[in-house]
Amino acid sequence: MRDKAAYDTLKPMGISSWKTELQSSIHHYQDLAEVCNLKLKGLPASENKQSGFPVKVPRPFLSRIDINNPADPLLLQILPTIDENHVSPGFQSDAVGELNKHLTPGLIKKYHGRALLIATATCPIHCRYCFRRHYPYQENQASQDNWAEAISALRKDSSIFEIILSGGDPLSLSDAKLEKLIGLLENIQHLKYLRIHTRFPVVLPKRITNHLLDLLRQTRFRTTMVLHINHAQEIDDDVEHVLHKLHLSNLQLLNQSVLLKGVNDDAKILTKLSESLYLNHVLPYYLHLLDPVQGAAHFDVDEGVARNLMEQLRINLPGYLVPRLVKEIPDTLYKTPLI
Ligand SMILES: *Cc1c(COP(=O)(O)O)cnc(C)c1O
Ligand code: SF4
Repeated sequence: MRDKAAYDTLKPMGISSWKTELQSSIHHYQDLAEVCNLKLKGLPASENKQSGFPVKVPRPFLSRIDINNPADPLLLQILPTIDENHVSPGFQSDAVGELNKHLTPGLIKKYHGRALLIATATCPIHCRYCFRRHYPYQENQASQDNWAEAISALRKDSSIFEIILSGGDPLSLSDAKLEKLIGLLENIQHLKYLRIHTRFPVVLPKRITNHLLDLLRQTRFRTTMVLHINHAQEIDDDVEHVLHKLHLSNLQLLNQSVLLKGVNDDAKILTKLSESLYLNHVLPYYLHLLDPVQGAAHFDVDEGVARNLMEQLRINLPGYLVPRLVKEIPDTLYKTPLI
């Protein structure tokens, strides 16, 4: 059981807008240590000047952390540790080889028919293992000023049928901006599918406003939302509620996870995750091996271990609830499956 007083400070606020709630996120290591009851002694003094990737955790996500468990799987995802400063051979800053795949600033085409738009640099949460933690967002986000450039490149390439909004997190944009962007994309006739890669529904469910739901329901696109959930403990009642609403808005809901040491490198945990997702209308899509990004080596799970986990999942679950284990190898034409 949690300590009641500490719990109250963690609880998401009652009637606030998602923007207010986002602003009240934890942004400093010291504050995180305080609310999660961590003893600073023995923990890193890292506000991580080196990586330039400061703590960021919204309250709703914090409220699901068990502060009595120093190895809580949600805590581990957002807590910087001294391990981040280790320079590990083979771990790079452009881990997935995408910096030379830009059509225009913020528009990446790595795979046939699909283009990915870095619609914004901002994320609602900073995941310590993130492969984009070193991404030069300043130079490469398709901010509103250069949407025009990305839109015109998309218009010229009629081989592209799917536009993926990514980031950062595209739902960091306001509803008004998203509406404008989706409108511009809808005018490009060869685009048929819209995909949104986002962590918002799980880390800050209030982001799923009625306006956004209307927008997604009314677009001419066949629309998929790819969530990013690593552990069933991330799904609480509020998250369930918005997942149901998204489902009722005719979206295809998929989930991608990253296989993370100490967080979800366990067959029972991954089985439970698939089951919880399915109960909330979400199908598991990818289970990513960690991209070898500098500063995240302590999350790395050995490929052999990963394969054994997959074997267990195939035994435990219906085939449609087994995610595809994939690895991103620079200069391949798809995310490479590992069997
Ligand atoms: C992952 C990714 C995609 C989408 O790949 P799918 O296998 O279709 O999910 C598209 N573009 C980029 C740059 C990606 O990293
Ligand atoms: S939300 Fe996604 S892009 Fe943002 S830090 Fe987390 S993993 Fe990275």
